[in-house]
Amino acid sequence: MAHLRVDHIDFAYENGQTVFSDFSIEAKPGEFVALLGPSGCGKSTLLNLLSGFLQPQRGSIRINEHKARPEMQELGYVFQSPQLFPWLNALDNVAFGLRMRADVSRIEREQKAREALALVGLADAAQRLPHQLSGGMQQRISLARTLAMEPTLLLMDEPFAALDAISRQSMNEELLRLWSTLKQTVVFITHDIDEAVFLADRVVVLGKAPQGVRHTVAVDLPRP
Ligand code: ADP
Ligand code: ADP
Repeated sequence: MAHLRVDHIDFAYENGQTVFSDFSIEAKPGEFVALLGPSGCGKSTLLNLLSGFLQPQRGSIRINEHKARPEMQELGYVFQSPQLFPWLNALDNVAFGLRMRADVSRIEREQKAREALALVGLADAAQRLPHQLSGGMQQRISLARTLAMEPTLLLMDEPFAALDAISRQSMNEELLRLWSTLKQTVVFITHDIDEAVFLADRVVVLGKAPQGVRHTVAVDLPRP
């Protein structure tokens, strides 16, 4: 489980657009944190900072006391669109990322991929191609592909936003079930307040303020 600490960062784009000013958040090991805010408040920018694609001009972003870098093995990403390879079946799509891991043999790769597919309830769909699966199933495969890499910090950017309301609710229930078993640290970006409250231990609300400076409010939610 990863410990994420964002301490007093300032971040502005090269054109001078200030997005964060003295901004801090923390996700403790195993915590599920939702980032909630309107379009343009800086959610994508923050995700790019957390994953080390952007660097703050001041302050620090640390994952288990290390500076955030895109290739960190701790990091797993799930994006709004599943981005599966259309010519690979579900199992091979899930196994694909594991090819980068020199320590995982071909046999282990298939075994880990099967386990990850089973986790998301798609063990029976292993041989099917993406176009033979619904949008929700494709997004489950995308989640399985990320989980197979065994990340300890899961960064999710509106992962179910493209799904209809019913699939989305069942994916959220599924995600919560998986999270309570796997206990990763999760940072989940959304502009849907119901989704944030349903999922998270803590909701961090990002707001726009004058002069482009962003402020935040964090709300802790006790779990039943
Ligand atoms: P969100 O994901 O919450 O919609 P973004 O992080 O995309 O917000 O954007 C935050 C602010 O930074 C917005 O005002 C946006 O226009 C600006 N912005 C985003 N990307 C860039 C960029 N590459 N260069 C300059 N400004 C940007
Ligand atoms: P979203 O709100 O879904 O995150 P945006 O429309 O804010 O998407 O941004 C889409 C892309 O455009 C992002 O890569 C972002 O960095 C870039 N972008 C957004 N605003 C600006 C801007 N003012 N100048 C340059 N690039 C921008």
